[in-house]
Amino acid sequence: MTEQTKRIFGIDLGTTYSSIAYVDEFGKAVIIPNAESERVTPSVVFFDEDSIVVGDVAKESSKIYPNEVVSFVKRSMGEPNFIFVYNSEEYRAEEISAYILKKLAQDAEQHLGEKVTDVVITCPAYFGINEREATRKAGEIAGFNVRQIINEPTAAAIAYGSLDLSDERVVLVFDLGGGTFDVTMIDIRKDSVEVICTGGDHNLGGKDWDDRIVAHIVDLFQNETGTDEDILDDPDTWQDLQLSAEKAKKILSQRPKTPIAVTHGGERVKVVLERKKFIELTEDLLERTIDFTKEMLEEAKNKGYNDFDEIILVGGATRMPQLQSRIKEAFSVTPKMFDPDESIAKGAAIYGWKLGLNDGMIQRLAIKTNKHIEKIDDIPEMIENKELSPKDVKEAAQEVADETGYTLPSVESSMLTVKNVTSKSFGVVAHNPKDEEIVFNIVLRNTTVPITQKKDFYTAVKDQSTVLIRIMESETNRVELPVDQAVDIKTAILNLPPGLPADLPIEITFSLNEEGRLHITAMETSDARQVEVVVDTASVIQGEEFEKAKERSQKLVVH
Ligand code: AMP
Repeated sequence: MTEQTKRIFGIDLGTTYSSIAYVDEFGKAVIIPNAESERVTPSVVFFDEDSIVVGDVAKESSKIYPNEVVSFVKRSMGEPNFIFVYNSEEYRAEEISAYILKKLAQDAEQHLGEKVTDVVITCPAYFGINEREATRKAGEIAGFNVRQIINEPTAAAIAYGSLDLSDERVVLVFDLGGGTFDVTMIDIRKDSVEVICTGGDHNLGGKDWDDRIVAHIVDLFQNETGTDEDILDDPDTWQDLQLSAEKAKKILSQRPKTPIAVTHGGERVKVVLERKKFIELTEDLLERTIDFTKEMLEEAKNKGYNDFDEIILVGGATRMPQLQSRIKEAFSVTPKMFDPDESIAKGAAIYGWKLGLNDGMIQRLAIKTNKHIEKIDDIPEMIENKELSPKDVKEAAQEVADETGYTLPSVESSMLTVKNVTSKSFGVVAHNPKDEEIVFNIVLRNTTVPITQKKDFYTAVKDQSTVLIRIMESETNRVELPVDQAVDIKTAILNLPPGLPADLPIEITFSLNEEGRLHITAMETSDARQVEVVVDTASVIQGEEFEKAKERSQKLVVH
């Protein structure tokens, strides 16, 4: 592996389980088992004195040391109020996630005897700007060169599409993981994977099904023992029940009933949970996934997609049989289970592999033609404009194939374009003609990224030194909406040059890149002078705190 085609690993940083994959010398995506020989690692972190334990041991330790164990940290990504305190030190979700990433990478390094430096990390399509930035920061704290953050359903579709590139089809990726639900329509073609529309719920996942079992058991315990005490106040009982509920849920995917035992305050109650009862307890959760899917299908119609060919199921929680039969009933299509635990990491690895080969191609072509090529997607247009010839591209692909040992068709297939959409709308707080504060959306959700949009703001007074812009994220695709229907994600402060008149337009440019990150620039229009923009995102770790976390992560040993 040369510098030009550096290995880029794919990481599925899941709410409940995570995994890492790479593409082997035959061009096949392979999951790398962890030190415990498991293909997935529980996303659970145990602060054990001076060391950090991640995975199965941490999950088991949660029974005994519930206060030292952090689970489901992904649900707190980009969440400013989440702080975990251990030994008077504060840890944010990004840093705790970094430990999970470190564990995956360390084990992979041991397995392969090769250092993990460059990674592609996945996140739910549903993640907004802050959660995405937080995911990237987690990778950086772990010491990686984060090549890209890509959406989980896109990764699954890449893995799925890579199986048979000759067959063009529109698929719905129905992804119910441990903590999140995403449903995404993807158009898979020979040379592209294009996301059409996405929807879902950041706070709906297998864990909610577990919680319903927990609540049911608590009720039964109270009935049986005659107590009205909330046994979940006891952290040991809470942890114990969480683990038993998850186990019971998994068994109920195979069998019609399962026993569950709960011990609290010296009393032990044993119950049998039937699948029928479990379905009844969780019916509304399942219906929510169906409603979100229908909503997304309606939006897809606005983009000219009235139909789809297949539904593929990813995410461990799609193993529940009631989910599969309900989907079939609602959409008259038999859903296909597609490698639910591994497809996301594998898709991320294939995408990373593609990026690595793309680097090689771009460098080769640059040497050959003396042309600067920004990204692989620019090549077709450059050929059309006669800046590059198909022969140059073919020769460069052949050279990369010779150098890497991959076949020419697989190097050519790495030129596949991947297009995403933004899952949220972004706008700013502005005043309407009635002088009321409203959110004015500049980029609407389900717009293909990258996208650049401009908007003018006006100086209010002469010699104004700053303009403050509140940047808002929302889930509607209305252009104007009340402020309370959106969330503040950042503030941008424009530092204006002195001597400007009142009412001067300042042009603000919002650029959303392909991974859904927002970049803001501003220009003072009278002189076309660039204006300094200071963006503040309290929700994502930054500055000194980020540096400290990075340093701490380098020193810490993760087991
Ligand atoms: P993921 O985030 O994709 O790894 O999905 C993890 C979720 O899938 C967790 O909530 C698991 O409890 C759930 N899960 C895994 N296997 C099963 C199964 N056999 N039946 C039901 N849920 C499962």
